Amino acid sequence: MSGDFLALAQPGVQQLSPYVPGKPVDELARELDIDPSRIVKLASNENPLGASPRALAAIRDELAELTRYPDGNGFALKTLLAERCGVELDQVTLGNGSNDILELVARAYLAPGLNAVFSEHAFAVYPIVTQAVGADARVVPAKAWGHDLPAMLQAIDANTRVVFIANPNNPTGTWFGAEALDEFLQDVPAHVLVVLDEAYIEYAEGSDLPDGLDFLAAYPNLLVSRTFSKAYGLAALRVGYGLSTPVVADVLNRVRQPFNVNSLALAAACAALQDADYLAESRRLNEAGMQQLEAGFLALGLSWIPSKGNFIAVDLGQVAAPVFQGLLREGVIVRPVANYGMPNHLRITVGLPAENSRFLEALTKVLARG
Ligand SMILES: *Cc1c(COP(=O)(O)O)cnc(C)c1O
Repeated sequence: MSGDFLALAQPGVQQLSPYVPGKPVDELARELDIDPSRIVKLASNENPLGASPRALAAIRDELAELTRYPDGNGFALKTLLAERCGVELDQVTLGNGSNDILELVARAYLAPGLNAVFSEHAFAVYPIVTQAVGADARVVPAKAWGHDLPAMLQAIDANTRVVFIANPNNPTGTWFGAEALDEFLQDVPAHVLVVLDEAYIEYAEGSDLPDGLDFLAAYPNLLVSRTFSKAYGLAALRVGYGLSTPVVADVLNRVRQPFNVNSLALAAACAALQDADYLAESRRLNEAGMQQLEAGFLALGLSWIPSKGNFIAVDLGQVAAPVFQGLLREGVIVRPVANYGMPNHLRITVGLPAENSRFLEALTKVLARG
């Protein structure tokens, strides 16, 4: 008799659905039997600009050291981040992507009998890391697609250890302002760690989005997570970071894998962080592309959820799955979000002007077919 290794998995894991990534370009190219270069992928909120030339150069320099383990403490990157973020070195935790930070938080602070609070339509990794450690996920209904912070406060109980909030949120693009955040942080019980996920914060500069770092000093139960995967254009390398009190950072470091960020990623992140031109160009492209997509949706009579990220959720006014399939046949990959409770929406990552045009043309064609 062999064991039933599904039934033997811990209950939270049995109930998990694996994360569904955007469809890879090569996979669609094989299916359509066309060259991958003819495919447009606007599905994973990746930076369409290509990596910073300075990051690429740093990686080439680092190649000579591939036989060595990376610096497990990430000293150079932490030093730069601490300086940039106005915190001490011991407040920085490096992650293999910011998803790693989310997982470290869950492993350190959640367990069976405890719970994490997050919003409906929130990032899919929150339920995964929560259930993976056997904790309960308390999902709070969204308000106008965004986080209902007062309702999230109400959902917190004595067994809550973590609240995940994203500003802006993915896949909705919704955001909250400084006042709402401050009120929330004031009212969250001191035993609850608030994880403020700012994966897209670099795109929101100059807007009414608060900078989570401004709240770190006042709220010792706050952790801000950020990433090099989006505006810094290094998604493949997997680098993210958390900023918190030294105590929380110390706890996360205890459960962290010793060499969780590889040396190419460390070198590239240091270089990208110092490439101000690249970041400015990323922002400029995103702003222009967002306007292009909104104008296209307007012309098609479609509504959308206003977004502060590098992506936008468009409402097709009908079940989106067939339109997604139709777009695939046109060589355009976007992201269906039915698994986020949004069956009528598609999430489109802002691409280069030509990519946005290709998408809008394909969408027009697919919608016209009905
Ligand atoms: C993309 C994204 C992340 C970042 O993931 P990485 O692991 O850093 O690549 C984190 N949170 C949200 C909400 C995201 O959309």
